[in-house]
Amino acid sequence: MRMVMVISLLLIAVACQPKDEKTKEVEMYNSSGDMVGTASFHEQSDGVKVKVELEGLEPGFHGIHVHEYAKCEAPDFTSAGNHFNPTGAEHGLMHPEGNHLGDMPNIEADANGVINAELMMPETTLLDGKNSLTEGKGTSIIVTKNKDDGVSQPGGDSGERIICGTLTKTNGDNEKRPSDPTQNNEEQE
Ligand SMILES: [Zn+2]
Repeated sequence: MRMVMVISLLLIAVACQPKDEKTKEVEMYNSSGDMVGTASFHEQSDGVKVKVELEGLEPGFHGIHVHEYAKCEAPDFTSAGNHFNPTGAEHGLMHPEGNHLGDMPNIEADANGVINAELMMPETTLLDGKNSLTEGKGTSIIVTKNKDDGVSQPGGDSGERIICGTLTKTNGDNEKRPSDPTQNNEEQE
């Protein structure tokens, strides 16, 4: 509940700032509501590039996907719905009839539980259109406990959703935002 309020206030806060349509910064939260990193989305000619910086994970591979709703309700984040799939495909980068546009390669946490990854989401955009990640109410990006096997339906058998962040048209220029959302919260009151 607390996190929902923080997110709502953040959305109000950034709505007043200049918008950059080609770059979106997303703050990522774990199931306890702690901010554990960021995902930044960058519009490219052939899709959207995603840079993921996270900490506090179990070492090893984890699944990462864009989901259909911009709603991260802890602790299980089922509120985010299924994988982003505007083309009606099957799940999995290795599925012959795949893949969801929200599917991405697994990301690997190092021995310290840190992830620094760069991923591509071909055919997606941050601008308008059917394949837009920010169209309508937006989407979310979720990291799972286990890796995605690339073929199992509907989610690659990737286990619990452990980290979530929302991506909407109003996530924009993040530079002036304090890194601690509670601090921002107080400033708005
Ligand atoms: Zn999928």
